[in-house]
Amino acid sequence: MTVQPNPIEMIERLVGFPTVSADSNLDLIHFARDYLAQHGISSRLTYDADRRKANLFATIGPEVAGGVVLSGHTDVVPVAGQPWESDPFVLSRRDGRLYGRGTSDMKSFIAVALALLPEFRAADLRVPIHFAFSYDEETGCQGVSGLLDDIAANLPRPALAIIGEPTDMQIANRHKGCYAYRTIFTGRDGHSSATHKGVNAISHAAELIAHLSRLAGEQREQGPFDDSFDPPYTTFNVGMIAGGTAMNIIARRCEVTWEFRPLPSVNPESVIGRVQDFLSRDLLPRMRSVAPEATIETVQECMVPPLRNEADSPAEALVRLLTGANHTIGVAFGTEGGLFQQAGIPAVVCGPGSIARAHQPNEFIELEQVEACTVFLRKLLDWARRR
Ligand SMILES: [Zn+2]
Repeated sequence: MTVQPNPIEMIERLVGFPTVSADSNLDLIHFARDYLAQHGISSRLTYDADRRKANLFATIGPEVAGGVVLSGHTDVVPVAGQPWESDPFVLSRRDGRLYGRGTSDMKSFIAVALALLPEFRAADLRVPIHFAFSYDEETGCQGVSGLLDDIAANLPRPALAIIGEPTDMQIANRHKGCYAYRTIFTGRDGHSSATHKGVNAISHAAELIAHLSRLAGEQREQGPFDDSFDPPYTTFNVGMIAGGTAMNIIARRCEVTWEFRPLPSVNPESVIGRVQDFLSRDLLPRMRSVAPEATIETVQECMVPPLRNEADSPAEALVRLLTGANHTIGVAFGTEGGLFQQAGIPAVVCGPGSIARAHQPNEFIELEQVEACTVFLRKLLDWARRR
């Protein structure tokens, strides 16, 4: 007979695994797998290429389609250089709050779900409840696709997903996407006095930057606009540039890292298409007219699709029913919700804690948020039993 842990003990366990995105999350995943196994639930693990990180997917209840996914990422952002007042990987309870890295973003949601497992098990669920715990969310949602591919290929399709990112238990049915790229220009070097014989990679990279500024200006002035976001339009940013070797050498190589964050109503493919057209039809031919060996290569660094508010979303309908909330919000941060949606699984974001605490030193969650999440998941349990 295993004892049911309370949610706070489970938060303490999970915070104790230092699952910073750069490091392995396997200790946490194996802990969850073993705990689920103790309760008779088997887990499916999908790994990254080096098998240093894994997603976990488990089903409680019947192995049928139409289930509810409780989705959370196991990784956390780094703590290095932040002024923490207590050990970020040791849960500390002060003034009605739980402090520790990942308390808000987003181990508490996972922990409450795990803590309620014995109750889920004891209930005679008609609708399956799935746990979907991912890796590498914080570095651009790269991890969860392995889990989604496994569902698509091998498992009955769930009806909807609840992404437990911190919204103070409000329902977020939309967020912007984030698409980041690194574009590498390779020109031809030479003496800086003979510019006509070389192709300057920095100058051509600057043309990409100017093109991105034009696209940004268009979005800012012409829209589309959505007032649930600040700013209410699609943005572009150039984050890094590196190129050249010396003042008197024509720069052969230059690398630009850039991103755009589309509104849910903007088609990301059309934005990418406009940048690619400019590079391949305009800029590259001009470089090659001098140096046929010149290249422009674009590598995708991260792809977080926007979460689109869907009419008649079963995810939104269920979470409205369970929380009693009668309005929805848009959130400024990206989540795995858009990827679930792309995989044909409607999703909304609703979880305990506040995004204002996330990624900060002394990250915390209010105990009343943990309680609210517990009440919410018990209501879900009740619904899944009676359905
Ligand atoms: Zn998060």
